[in-house]
Amino acid sequence: MKKRKKRTKKGEPQHITKAVTHIRLVETNPGKLAALDRLSQVFLLLTQQYTTLFCTDELPDSFHAPCFETTLSERWHRVAIQQAAGIAKSWRTNRANAYQAYVDDLAEYQEQQADGTLEEGTTEPQWCEWDVPTLREICIQGNCNVIKLEPSTDSCFDYWLKVSTLDKGHPLLVPVKLADYHKEALIDPNTHTRRTINSSVTLNKRDGAWWLTLSYDEMVTVQTLPDAPVIGIDVGIANFITTSSGKTYGTFNGKIREQQKRDREKPRGKAKLRKCLEKKGVPKEKLPSTSSATGQRLIRHVRQEINRAVNLCFTEHPDAHFAYEQLSVATMRHKARTMNAYMRASNLGHIPRQIEWNAAKRGVAVTAVKSAYSSQQCHVCWYVDRKNRPNQQTFCCKVCGHTTHADKNASQNIAARLHDEELRACQNRAEVKALLMKRHEHWKQKYGLVVVQPAVQLGLWDIPPASTDVA
Ligand SMILES: [Zn+2]
Repeated sequence: MKKRKKRTKKGEPQHITKAVTHIRLVETNPGKLAALDRLSQVFLLLTQQYTTLFCTDELPDSFHAPCFETTLSERWHRVAIQQAAGIAKSWRTNRANAYQAYVDDLAEYQEQQADGTLEEGTTEPQWCEWDVPTLREICIQGNCNVIKLEPSTDSCFDYWLKVSTLDKGHPLLVPVKLADYHKEALIDPNTHTRRTINSSVTLNKRDGAWWLTLSYDEMVTVQTLPDAPVIGIDVGIANFITTSSGKTYGTFNGKIREQQKRDREKPRGKAKLRKCLEKKGVPKEKLPSTSSATGQRLIRHVRQEINRAVNLCFTEHPDAHFAYEQLSVATMRHKARTMNAYMRASNLGHIPRQIEWNAAKRGVAVTAVKSAYSSQQCHVCWYVDRKNRPNQQTFCCKVCGHTTHADKNASQNIAARLHDEELRACQNRAEVKALLMKRHEHWKQKYGLVVVQPAVQLGLWDIPPASTDVA
């Protein structure tokens, strides 16, 4: 799904693309798919050449003039250029984001160094230049110029995939048989007819087998009202989601952590075995692998738990307009310090993606807001300080004494940022901080507060104005 740049409004139709995956291509005649294998090798090589070009010397351009020799047809050549441009574009974006995160990290480091708040053992952030992507897996995103999906008149199959090959004028015909759940996914529940399948298809080769992915478009109308209550979402590890309404969804603690502990013992045993075999002179490639199948299962399990948490959050706030943090790589890295390997591997970024996806398919408005200082800023008086967080769970403002769960404070800040145009306009972290501190100064003037110890202020704060009348 593409990221939406503008904010969603009620009644606005949104276009979402859904995929039907894992359709295995069956081989009817031996050697038929061998032609596809030959083609894909040449295609992979050419796509790699353009990917490297678009990541280094030239900007990604889907309409770039062909500049490498190949045995592929002109149409296939086009497809390779387009696919390479797409890969290079996202590689460049990710690299640019990571570089910006490094610059932010460095600025934060220098800031802390200057005011002497640098934690012991903190090292200066380093930039390590990224490698150009290497294409290993075979993936072909073919358009109708090279791959055509045609309905089959033969009752044994559902479609024919007509693939043009290296052998000009001799297209390959591969039968496509859909499983019942594929067929079900392709039926529109409103009209009970088969949906229109998009003309572009994806072919993947994994573990020696060819797989087809089909897709279709769906229109979803945004149902959220303009004055809908705003719910802020804070993303974390202890709780995957904390809302400004005070609810939490999903956690890495408990069951998942238990499972992970058990799993952790296994690779260690394997590593020991490796060492032992290595000493005996067994060649490296014959040693057992350290990547574990149970680890992979656990990562999948974490993702499922995230999906469940996000789903439930949406179900329990049916009329809300959600605000969530656009997690920068720096914020993610910051949160990652308290994260364990499985959460890292299953990726915190999976949570915002899942929020976006749920919103799109349900027709619910969501808005990404800036995450800078959302966890250090006091929701009451705007004061920003790392020391407002005495520990991971607690927020305790150094100025006004406002005390609450750290994630709740963050989610309330996130909710408030949804309609905050001034903050949205900030160009970088420094500008965000300056704005928040300016507001804090106004707050102080308004309440005429002298900065005193939080405990004393807490006391002041808790006395209701009417208390003097009681006697
Ligand atoms: Zn405060």
